[in-house]
Order: sequence, then C-alpha cells, then structure tokens
Amino acid sequence: MLIREHTEIAVIGAGVVGLTIALELIDAGHDVALVDPGLPGMGASYGNAGTIAGYATSPVGTPDVLRALPSLMFSRTSPLAIRHRALPSLTPWLLRFLRQSLPAAAGRNAVAIAALLANAGERWDDLALRVAGAGILQRRGCLYLYETPSALEAAKAELSQRRALGVEVSLIGPNELAVLEPGLARLAGGAAYFTGATFLDDPGRMMGLIAAAVLAHARLYTARADRLTRKPDGVVIEGAGLHLHARKVVIAAGAHSKALAQQAGDRIPLDTERGYHVEWDMTEPLLSRPSCPTSRGFYFCPMAGRLRVAGTVELGGLHLPPSPHRVRKLVEGARAFFPDLGEPDREWMGFRPSMPDSLPVIGPSMRGGEVIHAFGHGHLGVTMAPVTARIVADLVAGRSPTIDIAAYRPGRF
Ligand SMILES: Cc1cc2nc3c(=O)[nH]c(=O)nc-3n(C[C@H](O)[C@H](O)[C@H](O)COP(=O)(O)OP(=O)(O)OC[C@H]3O[C@@H](n4cnc5c(N)ncnc54)[C@H](O)[C@@H]3O)c2cc1C
Repeated sequence: MLIREHTEIAVIGAGVVGLTIALELIDAGHDVALVDPGLPGMGASYGNAGTIAGYATSPVGTPDVLRALPSLMFSRTSPLAIRHRALPSLTPWLLRFLRQSLPAAAGRNAVAIAALLANAGERWDDLALRVAGAGILQRRGCLYLYETPSALEAAKAELSQRRALGVEVSLIGPNELAVLEPGLARLAGGAAYFTGATFLDDPGRMMGLIAAAVLAHARLYTARADRLTRKPDGVVIEGAGLHLHARKVVIAAGAHSKALAQQAGDRIPLDTERGYHVEWDMTEPLLSRPSCPTSRGFYFCPMAGRLRVAGTVELGGLHLPPSPHRVRKLVEGARAFFPDLGEPDREWMGFRPSMPDSLPVIGPSMRGGEVIHAFGHGHLGVTMAPVTARIVADLVAGRSPTIDIAAYRPGRF
C-alpha cells in the first residue's frame, strides 16, 4: 500500500555521506528521514580501504597521470583498467578528465581537495566519539611504499606539493621501514610516512554504529528513490511503495546520484571508478597500518581479524559484472609482498562516485535550494564525509559554510 508521508529533511542514500549528514542534521534538531533500498552503509562505504586520508591532496587526474595514461590503459598489469563495452558512455567523462589533468586545472583541484581535507581527521575523531566507535579509529599513520629508489625519486616532487598544502609526511629509508613494518620484505625505496593519519580497522562496523545513532532518531524508508518532483512547499520523492514529501532533500546516493540530480534540474558528469577488495581472515596482522605500494594502486589494510587488500580503478560504469581479472591482479599483487597468502576468503567490488576533477558536488541545486547535492567524493568519501555533513548542515541552517564551497558547486561543468 502506498502511504503518503512527510518529513522536514529527506536524505537519499545511506552510505557514509548520507549517514553522517543525517546525524549532523539530527544533532542540530531537525526531523530527518533516510531513503535507501539497501542496508545502510553497505555500498562503497562498506568495502573501502578505511583510510582517513587527510594526506591525499592530489586529484586522480594530474599531468603525471596524463603522461602515463597510454601505458596505464593498455597494460594488463596496470592498476587502471577500462571495460571496453563501457567506453561509449564513458567518453564524455574521460574527455573532461583529460582536461582536468592539465597542470593549471590539476593544481586548482589539489587546493580545493586540501580545503576539504584540512580538518577531516578532527571531524572523524568527533564522529567516532559521537557514535561510540573510537575503538575502530586507529592512530598509527599510513604508508606509501616504494619498491625501488627510482620510484621514490619520481614521487618526491608530488610529495613536496602535498607538503606545500599542509600535509605532514616524512620519508623513511628501508631500515626504518623494516622496524616499523617487520612483516614486509625489505623495500629498497623505503616509504613516505603520513604520521598523523588515522584509519578505520572495520569500515562496515563503523557504518553500523553511525546508522544505529541515526536510526535512533530518524525513519528509514527501505525503497529506491526513482522520481523527484518539486512542489511549492518542498519536494516529493517517489519510488515503489514510497511517496515522501520533504521540505528539503539531500541527494547523497553516491555513484547512483546522477539521475536523481538530473530530475532536480542539474546535469552533472558523475560516473564511477569501480574498485575491488579481497580479504584473508587471520588473527595475527601482517602489517600495523594501511600501506600502499604506489605503483600497484592498492592498499594493504590491517582490519579487525583479517587483511583487506583494496583499491585499483576500473572504468566500467554501474551495470557490468565484476571483472575476475581485476580480482586476480589484486591477489597476485598481494602475493608479491606476502607469498604465503593462499586463496582469499572473500572478494568485493564497489562503486566510487567519481567526478572528472576529483572534487565532490556539494551545494544547492541550480534550480533551488530545497534540493542539496552531496555526492561525487571519489576516492575520499569516507575521509570527507563528516566535513561534508558540516557544510550541508550549514546550508540547511542558512549559514555560510566555513569552507568556501564555490569549487564544489553543481554548476561548475
Ligand atoms: C576499493 C575502494 C577503496 C576506497 N578506499 C577509501 C579510503 O581508504 N578512504 C576514503 O576516504 N575513501 C575510500 N574509498 C571511497 C569511498 O568508499 C567512497 O567515496 C564513499 O564510500 C562514498 O560514499 P557514499 O555515501 O557517497 O556512497 P555509497 O557508500 O555507495 O552509498 C550510496 C547509497 O545510496 C544508495 N542508493 C543508490 N541509489 C539510490 C536511490 N535511487 N535511492 C535511494 N538510495 C540509493 C545505495 O544503496 C547506497 O547505500 C574507497 C572506495 C573503494 C571502492
């Protein structure tokens, strides 16, 4: 039966972005409802690498990536893959991505990313305390691993750019790295150590805690939002069995937000960078902190009771099935460092919500502020979620956010 319901603010999508927005709005005293067809926190927000990556100020598209693109695209061992069947629909996104990889645009994008990352660690500290999840937030830093001295040399300029944007990083040699991570084979290039970074050792459990805190005060409609219709006094959200009137709507449906934004009147070049993980159950962790062999595009993530190896990028849209080849590449990449790993206990694929400029879309719809966009966080949605939530709460309250949000506006393309 179709029941017509009302709420002050409806948040579409219960991933890390939608959940943290809902919590921030509840704490500010608003009446909030969530709409999601699945279990909260089980999209991209479940299977990621768990890093609170305040150090990740570089956009995906840079002049270096542009130069390396031919080899990245056509090598079978590359951390980047393109599913050829998805190419026609991907082409407009790719063309924009190429433009955003030119030096001036990439530099601007790095500054805009850094603005969202500046307080991301502190915001996560607050959030973890708020949901009684401080035990999941680990404070052991993160590492970029360099397999050869020349790989380290090649990374130095980019690391300096991060330092200029306020990132704390120290270079450590092979001996120091061996002390820090004795389980790793000796790496001739050493590592970059982001000492202040934190990580979630169980993103799924953290999502469960945030969802529980939200659902103590908000209704969850387990339905897909299919249609948005603006009304003089708000917006009606409809789907199978759903008819929800809200004074304001926040679109936070991750990689699935494009069609909803279009119904709100905004054409946004959102696509997805699919990512994978494989996991091995183990009681003794092989490493102490998330560690990324940079040339391979994945992280070793020590998670509670298991090792997760997560990452790589596959441009393949929302509809094609997972690629077994990408899973094999992750397993082989992991065994290059830990040869004793057997077959993984589980594998997973998820959809990063990705914009060509690596910047999220945060701000009111161009057709009117009763719809607010909050999606497109790409590789950094976990890290940026609490900061995004604060911005959305400011917009709902009619306050100017403390961060200038011009760079993230929906109409920038
Ligand atoms: C392999 C991998 C590793 C990553 N590692 C990191 C990391 O270390 N650190 C970091 O910060 N980020 C990381 N990320 C990125 C991060 O996971 C994402 O940016 C983030 O989870 C996006 O959150 P979200 O809430 O926007 O989307 P999601 O978590 O995907 O949630 C979207 C929700 O919207 C719902 N939905 C979809 N369509 C509709 C609809 N029509 N109506 C209602 N609901 C709908 C879905 O069911 C889902 O619950 C990684 C991603 C991947 C894939």
